[in-house]
Amino acid sequence: MDTSILINFFYIVSAIFFIYGIKMLGSAATARKGNRVSAIGMLIAVVVTLIDREVFDSWIWIVTGIGIGSVIGIVAAKKVEMTSMPELVALFNGFGGLASLFVGWAEFQKVVDSKAEALGALSFASLDNFTASAIFLAVFIGGITFTGSVYAWGKLSGKISGQAKVFGGQKAFNLIITLGILVAGILYAAAPNGDYAFALFIAFVVLSLILGIFGVMPIGGGDMPVVISLLNSCSGLAACAAGFVIQNNVLIVAGCLVGASGLILTIIMCKAMNRTLANVLFSGFGATAQSTGGKQEGEMKAISGEDAYYVLEAASSVVFVPGYGMAVAQAQHAVKELGEILEENGAEVRYAIHPVAGRMPGHMNVLLAEADVPYEQLSEMDDVNPIMSTVDVAIVIGANDVVNPAAGEDPSSPIYGMPIIKVFEAKTVFALKRGQGAGFSGLVNQLFFRENTRMLYGDAKATVTDLVAQFKE
Ligand code: NDP
Repeated sequence: MDTSILINFFYIVSAIFFIYGIKMLGSAATARKGNRVSAIGMLIAVVVTLIDREVFDSWIWIVTGIGIGSVIGIVAAKKVEMTSMPELVALFNGFGGLASLFVGWAEFQKVVDSKAEALGALSFASLDNFTASAIFLAVFIGGITFTGSVYAWGKLSGKISGQAKVFGGQKAFNLIITLGILVAGILYAAAPNGDYAFALFIAFVVLSLILGIFGVMPIGGGDMPVVISLLNSCSGLAACAAGFVIQNNVLIVAGCLVGASGLILTIIMCKAMNRTLANVLFSGFGATAQSTGGKQEGEMKAISGEDAYYVLEAASSVVFVPGYGMAVAQAQHAVKELGEILEENGAEVRYAIHPVAGRMPGHMNVLLAEADVPYEQLSEMDDVNPIMSTVDVAIVIGANDVVNPAAGEDPSSPIYGMPIIKVFEAKTVFALKRGQGAGFSGLVNQLFFRENTRMLYGDAKATVTDLVAQFKE
């Protein structure tokens, strides 16, 4: 049998593993298995590619690369805190983009080297226009993804300010760079073996790297998750282009899968914030967040753990609304215990999950699944909001932006229009946080000043553990 048929057969097998893996990632119950299934698919793809390309002569490089990559992966997976996951994902996206850039560059470099060697001789390796176009796309998208992701990592990890940065003429500046890249790319793809090809190539490499930084610069605050998801999609598209460069079918398929799923997630997140993608990317949202927090009416009223206990003891329906603070405090196990106690006490208990609560998509689902909270108690925002006015107590655990009523009431607020969990409609709201700290967007939250809100100050885990202890007494 022709080996190329066999190779493509195994590529289809690995693509099936990828698709099933992604499907399983859709539910917390099967997500771990989905990860493993996808990893097996990738292993098949890697082994088959190594056999196909007969690259065993370079085994020292391959083994060294696998060794270094595995060590970094294992250390990162073990050491990185759950709360730092988005930064890690940003870095992974960035390196995916860089890898595609290098694949494109390596193919082009073959032509450059062969030209240099063939100086004076009649023939040298050459590129056709299609491959050159694919190289351009792999380098362009990969370059933006690399610097954009590293910049996003800096913002998310607090190494640089997480706020959006805008300056006069920023959009025009980005537009000129984009046009520069497109012009250089088109000229290059039209004459990839010409005298100016190398200069044009370097020009769009450098401009793409610059555009990545300046493209992410005006995005900040609560829009960062959308950007990470979009960069993830870009890393897939860059890989897909790299697949066309080296004519590797499984790379094309895997790249398309990452590109499409990242784009779908991006659109879902934009919808969750009631924004368009263009608005997220170009509006400079968040640059003014600190200054447009809105006016506060009323004052924040604290409640003691003991008084909170009496209210909860009498409650017949309770909704927990977890946020980033629950992740910081690692309070999920204590929260689950309190939920069970409330149920035993006769209350109906739910957990309301906002799509962008925490610092990564699905962050709260992961934490609550880790604490074995039953899936049937998890409610999505759209399901829980209609019944919120009937809820006796909404317990906000380290959530802030995702429960800020300004999103629905204050047209001057930068988060106006973002769907929120309407805890303010509950009969009583307990807000668990350490002090007056703002949320990710830096906005003042009107919720904490409402008549029906009581502040339970302290680390979320300590506060919830204290409530559990009072029920047990
Ligand atoms: P926020 O970031 O809005 O608020 C978190 C709150 O938790 C803070 O006000 C803080 O107040 C409190 N907190 C911190 N540590 C503790 C602790 N140990 N115990 C108790 N409270 C604590 O969180 P939300 O989940 O409401 O909103 C998420 C925000 O992050 C949104 O703006 C979203 O867009 C953005 N984002 C989301 C991502 C995602 O994919 N989910 C990724 C990146 C950003 P205090 O300091 O007073 O304790």
